[in-house]
Amino acid sequence: MRNIKTYGKEIAIGFLSVLLMFLIYIGVPPLPLVSSALMIAAVFFLAKSRGGIAVGSVGKKAASRSPSYLSFEDIGGQDHPKRELMEALEFMVRRDEIKKLGIRPLKGILLTGPPGTGKTLLAKAAAHHTNSTFVAASGSEFVEMYVGVGAGRIRDLFKEARNKAAKQKRNSAIVFIDEIDGIGGKRDGGQQREYDQTLNQLLTEMDGVHGDESIRILVIGATNRRELLDSALLRPGRFDRQILVDLPDKTGREHILKLHGRNKPMGEEVSLAKVAEETFGFSGAQLESVMNEAAIYAMRDTSDWVTQTHLTQAIDKVMMGERMDRETTCEERERVANHELGHAIMAEHVRPGSVAQVSLTPRGQALGYVRHHPRQDSYLYTKETLEDQIMIALGGCVAEELIYGGRSTGSRGDFEQATNIVRTMIESGMSTLGIIHPQALTKEDWSRENTNILNELIDRTREVLGANKDKFEQLLGILVKEETLSGDRLRASLTRRTTQSEAS
Ligand code: ATP
Repeated sequence: MRNIKTYGKEIAIGFLSVLLMFLIYIGVPPLPLVSSALMIAAVFFLAKSRGGIAVGSVGKKAASRSPSYLSFEDIGGQDHPKRELMEALEFMVRRDEIKKLGIRPLKGILLTGPPGTGKTLLAKAAAHHTNSTFVAASGSEFVEMYVGVGAGRIRDLFKEARNKAAKQKRNSAIVFIDEIDGIGGKRDGGQQREYDQTLNQLLTEMDGVHGDESIRILVIGATNRRELLDSALLRPGRFDRQILVDLPDKTGREHILKLHGRNKPMGEEVSLAKVAEETFGFSGAQLESVMNEAAIYAMRDTSDWVTQTHLTQAIDKVMMGERMDRETTCEERERVANHELGHAIMAEHVRPGSVAQVSLTPRGQALGYVRHHPRQDSYLYTKETLEDQIMIALGGCVAEELIYGGRSTGSRGDFEQATNIVRTMIESGMSTLGIIHPQALTKEDWSRENTNILNELIDRTREVLGANKDKFEQLLGILVKEETLSGDRLRASLTRRTTQSEAS
């Protein structure tokens, strides 16, 4: 379909000639006008031929982001996505066979998954594996107020990929679009014309990719929010392959830690397997940060190598934020200590042996925290486990109620965590609502069920902590004085009570 943009040049030339004739007609001298028009045209032509101004800016950024070579061996864990991606890339490598069998070339691969899991790294490694030129852009770079600008940038991005590949004498190019949901989100029926045009242009470019082209283009898109993508983008012939790049498991985490530890001197006692165990739920980016922060702690200690203590400090920092020098009053400190003891005593009750340390060191937003021993990676939770987690979260506010007769703002984060778990329980059919589709859940249903579950669990938490009220006073002194309380010391104190009460 040839639209107004196809004739853009002709319309512009026509308009300028009419304008020129009009200006001559009203008496403006023609010579200065013509010479300035020629100068503007020359500047524009020069800028275009060097990769473009305005509309070409994506291509320029893309060029500057070409990878320093990165292979699949440089990516830790992610064995499954790597294998799937390599299989898909066979289409680019075995070109002759594909042509002989009349197979439609693969045009798009979509990498989905949480932030920092290595999607960009995989795209770069794909370019290296297939000896392709790599150009990259982010979805947000195409979002503009003016209709047609985003679409122009898409056109330029593909043009840039082809030109660059030709210059580098390569026969394939990978166009990587990060945060593709920024342009490929569901269309809303014409309200946002600019947005629609950008997506349409991407679809047009992908449809225009043919197997017999001298330079074959493969588009790799990445998103953390696959559910937002327009179905037109996901149909066969566009993003044919979708690969989930998830958070790494324990073996994957250890592999990533090893890769990022290659250039750092490590103490002999360091066990990266232990660090991997303690970092359940961390992304590759967070693991990279742990290794980097550990090296910074080593430098601050003027140590020649990274020790296990530096690594433990780094995990706390990445998980909870930087240690803060917040001045708190004596009363605040005591309240925080009781709050944290509430979490810790509850944790020991439902999961004996689980507390590693209670700390009063302010980190990030938190004024104190409980460190738990690493657990086995698990991906399935029973109702009992989820209820235990909620009771541990509620332990802080219940402790404050027991000791001070009321709550403080320190429980906000705990409540958020507890209500998130309640939502998981409801959506997994573990509530009195039975099996219910999340969309069929009204606000009233949700609110009633949430209150019922939390009230019942608050009562159970109150019972456990009430029976341990005497322990708060004993442990508070140690925690406030020493700033930390080890799990072993906490357990020793709690067991003493149990043994004594059993004896009586
Ligand atoms: P986003 O969705 O936020 O764009 P992403 O999934 O594209 O993130 P990357 O940009 O590929 O994540 O990774 C960010 C950084 O995290 C990398 O530069 C690297 O240091 C580290 N990293 C992430 N995953 C891995 C991995 N599997 N192996 C090694 N390093 C990793």
